Formats: sequence, C-alpha cells, structure tokens
Amino acid sequence: MLDQALLRPGRFDRRIVIDRPNLAGRLATLQVHTRNIKLGEDVNLKKVALATAGCVGADLANLVNEAALRAVRKGRKLVSQEDFLAAFELVIAGTEKKGSVLTEFEKKLVAYHEVGHAMVAYKQKNTEPVQKITIVPHTQGSLGYTLLMPEEDKTELRTKDELMAKITVSMGGRAAEEVVMNTMTNGASQDIQDATSVARNMVAMFGMSEEFGMMALASRRNQYLDGGYGMDCAQDTAAQMDKAVKEILDKCYQDAVEILKANREDMDKVVAYLLEKETITGAEMVAIIEGRDPELVDDPYASTTQDRGFRPSVPEGIEPAAKKVHMISQKIEAPEAPAENGPDQEAPAPEPPKAQDPSDPGEPSQE
Ligand code: ZN
Repeated sequence: MLDQALLRPGRFDRRIVIDRPNLAGRLATLQVHTRNIKLGEDVNLKKVALATAGCVGADLANLVNEAALRAVRKGRKLVSQEDFLAAFELVIAGTEKKGSVLTEFEKKLVAYHEVGHAMVAYKQKNTEPVQKITIVPHTQGSLGYTLLMPEEDKTELRTKDELMAKITVSMGGRAAEEVVMNTMTNGASQDIQDATSVARNMVAMFGMSEEFGMMALASRRNQYLDGGYGMDCAQDTAAQMDKAVKEILDKCYQDAVEILKANREDMDKVVAYLLEKETITGAEMVAIIEGRDPELVDDPYASTTQDRGFRPSVPEGIEPAAKKVHMISQKIEAPEAPAENGPDQEAPAPEPPKAQDPSDPGEPSQE
C-alpha cells in the first residue's frame, strides 16, 4: 500500500513478501500456537489446517485460543478436535444465536435453502465436499449455512468448470426455494452477490466467455485497498458484458434447478433429518442419500466423498517452523517487596521510581 514513489529502485534494498500461508505453512503455524496447549489424542491439526484455507497466522492464533477457551468452558483438561472445528466455525460464522425463534415455515424454508446448496454441491463434479449443514441462526446474520471444505490444499488456480460449479452451488439455495416452496427470499442475497462476482470475473478478466474471448474488459485497481474494479472498455461493450454475465448465471441457475428436481426425493429426506437435528454433517447427508442410517456414521467429520481419498500434498511430519527459536516461557518474577513488611501486612504499592534530580529537565515525571 506504499506510495509508488517510495518504492523506486534504490530505496529499499530488499522486500519480503509475506503471503497467506499454504497448507504446510498453516500446519506449521498451528503447531507453533498449540505448543503450550494440551491436545487430546483425537486432534488432527492437518484437518484444521485444511479447513482454514485463506487464514493468516493471526487468524490461526485466534482459532487456537478460541478452541482452548471452549475446552476450559466445557471443563476439560485437553483440547479436542471438536473444539478446533467449533472454534473454526465461530471464527467464520459467529456464535449460535440463542433464543431467536423461527416459525415452522421459516425453518423449513431455511432448511430447503441450505440443503439445496448441499445437494447441488454433492451432485456435481468439481466441487468441494460438504462438511456441515446447519439451520441454527448465527450472530453474523445467517439463519443457517452450508460449509464446504476442501479435502486437500487447493491453490488459487481454478478451471472454468470449477468456477461454473461454484456458481451453480451458490444458486442451489434460491433454486430450492423456488422448486420446493415456490417462493423467493432475501436470504439468497449473499449467494447472488458471490455468484455474480465470479461470473463477472470470468467474463471480464479470465477470458472465459465466447463473446469476448481473450479480451480484458476490466482490471483490478487496487489489490489491497478495496479491490475495486475498473472497466477498460466502451460503455456499449460493458452493456454486452452484462449480458454475457447474465447468460452464465442463467445457465448455472437452470443447472441447479435441474439437479434439485431430479433429486427431489433425496432432498426431502435430508431436509426432514435436518429439521429434526438442526445441524448435520456431510457424512450424514451422504448416508441418507445412499440409504444408510445416518445415526450410524461413526466419523462425523469424515469426508463426504469416499472415492476421492485424501491426497496429502505435503510430506508427512512437518517440523514446526519456529522450533529453533528459543522462547522464554518462564515467568519473570516481579521484584520482591521490602523484607521488613510483616506477613499479615498488605504489601504497599511499589515504591515510585527514585525521584529524579529536579534540576534534570530531561524526562517527564513517571506519574
Ligand atoms: Zn444460501
């Protein structure tokens, strides 16, 4: 964010770019922050690292702290994997909002909306697996959410198919509202924003539309400030571009509607279970769709897709990055109170620093 003039050659000898950490970096960061925390045996930091794609070191430190707080609140001596996952959700969605009452109809609407996202994600290729669906309202404004989590560290590289699938998943919520309840809600506004911005990027910046091909229509003005967009084309072209964006959105929406219509029966079953439990995992959803008993799912946080086994993209056993840094963990004792004080006597306030020579005008008084 520094002024370009300040960055002219010769002014700074060396620049160190600190990017968001990748999977290995996040794992190492988590290992550093959990060094002084007692972890339960079930803790799998790698899974936590996988879930936290896009988080920076401070986010991870916060997450570890929240997990430890949760364990203490629950009266446990060890932090469990569940604590980490709950802390992760706390960081992204806020806490559960107690006491907000939804009517039966609203609950059903939210349930179908969320299951709509989840079904579309599950039935398509090129999507991330569903980890969790909840219809418990959260403090950051959502009445429910569907959590998709990557199975392995993904880079920023996305294919056109993946982007289209992402838009279609975003459309799943509204599509379910329409297909099942024959209505529309304002709950889909964030989905619409997300989908539109992906589609706009595809047309304007990624060269993924037939109309414009490899022509850059917009460019990002400032990566760090607001990420604002600048149009680099004539107004007529911009109007055409909007049409191309709408075409993508319409196609994805149609795909989502078709997926939901074709899987209506499964969707009803998942919604019935979700209404009963309020929060279900992706594994439970898959069990219902495959006709198994969702109560028997033993690893609730297991991946939803069995065939796409976990492929570690980092070598096993990463050393904590900061292992060689010597940290002082011993408490530094405060200077002892003067010895003449009796044991019953309350320790007096620490003596003020030795009065300075009043003739010395140098430093202001400590008081
Ligand atoms: Zn939604």
